[in-house]
Amino acid sequence: METKMKKAPAKRGKNEKTKTPVSISSRKTRAKKDAAKDLSDLFEDGLKDIYWAEKALVKALPKMHKNATDPKLKNAIESHLEETKGHVKRLEACFKAMKKKAEAKKCDAMQGLLDEGKGIMEETKPGPVRDAGIIAASQKIEHYEIATYGTLAAYAKILKEKDCLKELLATLKEEKNCNDLLSKIADTNLNAKALIQ
Ligand code: FE
Ligand code: FE
Repeated sequence: METKMKKAPAKRGKNEKTKTPVSISSRKTRAKKDAAKDLSDLFEDGLKDIYWAEKALVKALPKMHKNATDPKLKNAIESHLEETKGHVKRLEACFKAMKKKAEAKKCDAMQGLLDEGKGIMEETKPGPVRDAGIIAASQKIEHYEIATYGTLAAYAKILKEKDCLKELLATLKEEKNCNDLLSKIADTNLNAKALIQ
């Protein structure tokens, strides 16, 4: 009887990890009845989402301002609150340009980020450490906004919603500037102070 030579298994490199196969039982998510049909629907849904988020921020930023101690940080929060009120107005202008009713839809991501910010304040005493925590929470919020406005601006471009695109890019710029300013405050001032607490 002829014996077949067994093929030696391919040698794995030291750092090569075993791939976990994707479960074949995992199913696609079933869409809701009112699911977006096209990019235009997705764009409108995104606007409603960030409209809710910006309005929530108008309410939350004064609390962060009250809890912050560093004057530079307090100033940054105060001026971003004014900008945020403008972001709400710009979104209303977007809805108007699209001849749609301005409608807010709860943004679970922003709610989570705000809850995290609240948690950081509860877990720290007023001073440099709480300030550092407020900056961390604020930067997560700004990054979320930057990602959102970046995506919405890309959609507006494809959908040829020129008026919306202008508004979205103006807000995107302010979100980026705010994030940069927060980085600067943390780097030049706050984190070092928090270290020696
Ligand atoms: Fe904003
Ligand atoms: Fe912002």
